[in-house]
Amino acid sequence: MKVKYNLLNTDEKARYGTLETNYGTYETPMFMPVGTLANVKTLTPEEIKEMKCGIILANTYHLWLRPGEDIIEKAGGLHKFMNYDGPILTDSGGFQVFSLARPKDITEEGVKFKSHLDGRNLLLTPEKSIEIQNKLDSDIAMSFDECIPYPSTYEYAKQSTDRTLRWAIRGKNVFNNDKQSLFGIVQGGEYEDLREYSAKETVKIGFDGYAIGGTSVGEDKVTMNKMIEYAVRYLPEDKPRYLMGVGEPIDLLEGVERGIDMFDCVLSTRLARHGNAFTRHGRINLKNAKYREDFTSIDENCDCYTCKNYTKAYVRHLITCDEMLGGRLLSIHNIRFLVKEMEEIRESIKNKKFKEYKEEFIKNYNN
Ligand SMILES: [Zn+2]
Repeated sequence: MKVKYNLLNTDEKARYGTLETNYGTYETPMFMPVGTLANVKTLTPEEIKEMKCGIILANTYHLWLRPGEDIIEKAGGLHKFMNYDGPILTDSGGFQVFSLARPKDITEEGVKFKSHLDGRNLLLTPEKSIEIQNKLDSDIAMSFDECIPYPSTYEYAKQSTDRTLRWAIRGKNVFNNDKQSLFGIVQGGEYEDLREYSAKETVKIGFDGYAIGGTSVGEDKVTMNKMIEYAVRYLPEDKPRYLMGVGEPIDLLEGVERGIDMFDCVLSTRLARHGNAFTRHGRINLKNAKYREDFTSIDENCDCYTCKNYTKAYVRHLITCDEMLGGRLLSIHNIRFLVKEMEEIRESIKNKKFKEYKEEFIKNYNN
């Protein structure tokens, strides 16, 4: 089936709703953990579910290179291959490819680049991206777009926005999968008129959901929030809105306030592997010596497996000894922290108390 978004409640621009998928119905706004190589690093699908995650992400570029989309297709698709019977969203591969390509290798046809594994020459096109995502059998596929760097000149942003629109049409033209949804991506850099143009034209092409891309690429937060506002106002109410690559606790609040329904970010698991934890009172690094004899949990308000069973001192010990369990326990905590934050955000929207919740959260987080 195609995903179906139901808007149930609003508090100013913040939206509470549900998203119906091939694998059940999930409440939004939601945070989606990233499973780059068909696994949310170090965690099993059972653990992901225990944290009450809904959709997870997988990366088209990485799975194209290893093990290859044909092997995943032979396995019966991503869900069977990785034993996850929840919804999966695949990105288009564009984000990784653009970081590997030289400017002159971005052409109308697609993007030429060298594999980060063995240096062989590869070409990713809008059609190829759809073909790979079709074989991966994700529930939501993303349109192939150019994620431009920040800052970019107006001229380049304009040229690129037009090309992304042409690519979106090419991708949609070869897309033919009733079980999969296809999301379009709004680009346009930091320019208000280009975001408006990109949003309106992408909506005209017609997709099952809309993403805002080109954010979280080095711009400051004020600029990022403006990019969201410039685009969201032209997106239809009855389709899900996804802000790509954004997932810091405060950024989630800023996105929800502007009408975003879905978020993803690798930060929660990446930070975990380096000993960092989100807490109600900001981010902490357990490598810090002050936690050596701290026998309290990472966050007293957290209901995750890690906080219920382990102390900061123990997790710190694992992290400083490079024990794998340390990163695992922190990944469980960090993902659950964001998922729980989203649960609370949804409650606050339903009760028309989102602004109060946001202010209180930020006050505690910065304290
Ligand atoms: Zn926890």
